[in-house]
Amino acid sequence: MMIIDFRSDTFTRPTPGMLRAMSTASTGDDVYGEDPSVNQLESLMAAYFGKEAAMYCPSGTMSNQIAIKVHTQPGDEVICSDLAHVYIYEGGGIAFNAGAQVRALEGDRGMITATQIAAAINPDDVHKATTSLVCLENTSNRGGGCCYDMDEMNRIKNVCRDNDLKLHLDGARLFNALVATGENPKTYGELFDSISVCLNKGMGCPMGSVLLGSAAFIRSARRIRKKLGGGLRQAGYMAATGLYAMEHHIARLAEDHHNAKQLAKYLLQKTFVGHMLPVETNILIFDVQDAWTPRLFADYLKKEGILVTPISETQVRMVTHLDITPEMVEKTCAVISQME
Ligand SMILES: *Cc1c(COP(=O)(O)O)cnc(C)c1O
Repeated sequence: MMIIDFRSDTFTRPTPGMLRAMSTASTGDDVYGEDPSVNQLESLMAAYFGKEAAMYCPSGTMSNQIAIKVHTQPGDEVICSDLAHVYIYEGGGIAFNAGAQVRALEGDRGMITATQIAAAINPDDVHKATTSLVCLENTSNRGGGCCYDMDEMNRIKNVCRDNDLKLHLDGARLFNALVATGENPKTYGELFDSISVCLNKGMGCPMGSVLLGSAAFIRSARRIRKKLGGGLRQAGYMAATGLYAMEHHIARLAEDHHNAKQLAKYLLQKTFVGHMLPVETNILIFDVQDAWTPRLFADYLKKEGILVTPISETQVRMVTHLDITPEMVEKTCAVISQME
């Protein structure tokens, strides 16, 4: 049976072209800074976002955690959404790695506002933790892949500048936001002190993330990456997949967005599908109701070879990606149509 895996865009596999790029990659020891493929990926990504420097990392979590560590001192406070990946899905890493604490704000689908942030900055008072960093997430994963409003991000940047706060972007799915909105990547380079971008989400790459920032920031980041054991040797075989994805797998994210909207259309015809977060990119998050629970819904689809994730007592998540073909979407829509 054909397996249709909507659980996450982390399940994509390298395409034949990507595997060829890997097998012919030139490599060296990246801890010595001598891997040409890693160096090429880093300079390409830095130029793409208009940042001075970039650093290849094994995972998005490591990129985020390194950025937070570089931007903060132990005991500082980090402002983010209560749904932020850095806060709820990185194993308490902010406390573990940076010794910082989180001020989690209740936002709209994981997106917080400049007004909220301004109100959450601690006064200069010995009782209070020093607020030093704001983390945003675009697209917002737990917010159903929604895209931040550019004007709001500009207002947030102003608040950070006026209050001497650093601004980090968890851009695990930033390529999805860029494709959906048509924004210029360099705008992000101007707005944020640091950006982490995932290559392992929907792009076919087996692993990898890139952290971007100023030359001084990346110099500090390299020291932290080494301490965390993230200094890689012949990483060029992996970086080659990133270079390949940059060229071949960014524009096509629009197909994933189209497929997600198609699935949404069929799901929303069903009375057992309740509230669905607006589908802006490649993630669907929706309530199931009546006789269905997320677990029953997932088990039913599994028998048809369709995998989805129950993410709460009421919600199901489905994610489209490189390995979801139009035929798979068609079959899934047909199966959903038959459900009562
Ligand atoms: C997946 C993800 C990450 C972390 O990526 P890993 O490479 O799995 O560690 C960070 N932020 C967001 C929003 C993500 O979805």
